[in-house]
Amino acid sequence: MPATVIREDGAYHSFCGLTCVGWLYQKIKDSFFLVLGTHTCAHLLQNVLGVMIFARPRFGVALIEEADLSKQQPELDRIIDEIVADHHPSVIFLLSSCTPEVMKVEFDGLARAVSRPDLPVLFVPASGLDYTFSQAEDSVLQALLPFCPIASPDDRRVVFLGSVNDAIADDFRTEAARLGIPVAGFLPESHFHDLPPIGSGTVIAPLQPYLAKVAGRLARERGATVVSSLFPFGPDGTRVFWEDVAAAMGIAVDLRERERQAWERLEPHLEILRGKKVFFTADNLMELPLARFLKHAGCTILECSSPYINRKFHARELEALDGVRVVEQPNFDRQLRDIQELRPDLVISNLATTNPLVGHGVVAKWSTEFSFMPIHGWSGAATLAGMFTRPLKRHAQLDPLMDDPLWVAGLMPAR
Ligand code: SF4
Repeated sequence: MPATVIREDGAYHSFCGLTCVGWLYQKIKDSFFLVLGTHTCAHLLQNVLGVMIFARPRFGVALIEEADLSKQQPELDRIIDEIVADHHPSVIFLLSSCTPEVMKVEFDGLARAVSRPDLPVLFVPASGLDYTFSQAEDSVLQALLPFCPIASPDDRRVVFLGSVNDAIADDFRTEAARLGIPVAGFLPESHFHDLPPIGSGTVIAPLQPYLAKVAGRLARERGATVVSSLFPFGPDGTRVFWEDVAAAMGIAVDLRERERQAWERLEPHLEILRGKKVFFTADNLMELPLARFLKHAGCTILECSSPYINRKFHARELEALDGVRVVEQPNFDRQLRDIQELRPDLVISNLATTNPLVGHGVVAKWSTEFSFMPIHGWSGAATLAGMFTRPLKRHAQLDPLMDDPLWVAGLMPAR
């Protein structure tokens, strides 16, 4: 039985979509990410991504002023000249932001107008108005989709869907080779011109839980088969993922012993996790697989909330969360009251809300960080477990007198 999803349509806190630049500019090494935005967007990128100006990062913000609307194309042409001279990218992603979206700037046409024959400029909707930060990767991959060559129907190979760092990508290629699974590549690849061919014979293996829209388009527009499985987080998810991908290729594999050994290696973390009560507010769209991993690690999941749940794309994760309270678009005020009452041992919360919670004595962990860490597959399991146990260990070392939970201090909003 899949977990029942409660939809609250509440006011929750999630990070701006522009944050996806942080991992995607590093992943796609011949790309440039150009945001058409305001000083707020520039501060976000500078502060969140923490890049020194002399590092010449491959992203930037073209500042927009209302009065400048009519001059946008010549100004963008000039900026693109500079980007080409400094970075020689193969592709430029033009990201929208809140202000130009409110001003109804026609981004699609603008991107086409400033594209060059040898340098596509691709519009990526990514403003904080509509997108959580991880969903913006979905927008980037949708922009790349037309540039994936069309594979012939008898080209039956796997394409891994989602950005992972090069070391994790190598692990997935190695594991696929061990299991006899032929691989066409990753979407995205490290270079724009290496995008994998995708056609009706392609099997899409989603690595990230926030790519429902691009997965749907791959099925509709290319006729590819999207594997319905768990996402490869933790020994449980990794085993089911590989068994399902192999089955989609007509290969039977049994990785139960491999999973048992992987759990055994996590034992020092499991000793800390067993019996802990964990509460997920909503932010990164990775909540379902993370909660499922913790459930199998012996935690009690008090609530697993997420900004968006796709009943089809997340079907297997919802099945694995049977019995857990799952909420879509939660109301953060209600969550604060529940945290006060239920007293979780660990809260997974977004960047803006984690520090205030920690300040009031709650053990809380930034959900944003999970998007930047190598937590996939067999090799990522220890990193994943450590991300949950580190704040618990640190808290256990605090002077008990400093432990002044918010529900004791009476700082929570009244019911
Ligand atoms: Fe810019 Fe809007 Fe993101 Fe703020 S939320 S950084 S204004 S795109």
